[in-house]
Amino acid sequence: MDPEKKSILWKLKFALFPKTRELIEVPPVEGFSKYLVVSPHPDDGDLFAGGLVAKLRDSGKEVVYLIVTDGSRGTLDEGMNGESLASLRRREEENAARILKVERIIFWDLPDGDLPIRRELRDRFIEIYRKEKPECVLLPDPFLPYEFHPDHVLVGLAGGEAVIFSPMPLFLPEVKPPHEVKLVAFYASHRPNQFLDISPYYERKMRAVREHKSQFSDSVLPLLEAYSYWKSREWARGKGMKLAEGFKVLTPTHLHTGIDSWEV
Ligand code: ZN
Repeated sequence: MDPEKKSILWKLKFALFPKTRELIEVPPVEGFSKYLVVSPHPDDGDLFAGGLVAKLRDSGKEVVYLIVTDGSRGTLDEGMNGESLASLRRREEENAARILKVERIIFWDLPDGDLPIRRELRDRFIEIYRKEKPECVLLPDPFLPYEFHPDHVLVGLAGGEAVIFSPMPLFLPEVKPPHEVKLVAFYASHRPNQFLDISPYYERKMRAVREHKSQFSDSVLPLLEAYSYWKSREWARGKGMKLAEGFKVLTPTHLHTGIDSWEV
């Protein structure tokens, strides 16, 4: 199409959609065929996206888990040592993934609470995106207000940064070919813009969550179960759903100078 015609079309589009945030369409999170679910610790993906994962797997979609840290410090038990905790949490994640029918888990085993600097982590993400070629990546929302766990913030930031740079060949040129991730879904977000009906998958998701016994002891579990249930109800309300998971879903275009991205 010649540039003049193109420009007229764009102006027309602006006139029809006066809210610029509606210009770039965000496709539905469940509409792709390969997903990479990134968890800073063993449990995050199951807890915040277990319903989506179960649904994707039942629809024959490919889901790969990436667990960034070894989870070796996630305890209040003074008698626990890091090595035992890491191997326990690895087993718990394997059990949870089996329930959700996730066949492949990549464990980076980086130190819990002590991730490498963002630049190093970003290159690791570029490498894994180019190797695994996911169309959609799930990450923790790094802009969750009052999130103080550095692993969640850093993984969200570095993982998002890599979404922008993975298609650009001059970033990490030794890892070929460049790969374009089409969609990013941030979980544990306070500004979800897509809600997925997980009613038929809720019990399965919670069975997977309960596998993380080192994190959710008998005294903590009832509170977690109640919170998960009511949050899922809240997210479902008014949408013709019973139980839902919420995600902040954005395209790579939204991730750089996206003035409207916060309210997409
Ligand atoms: Zn975590």
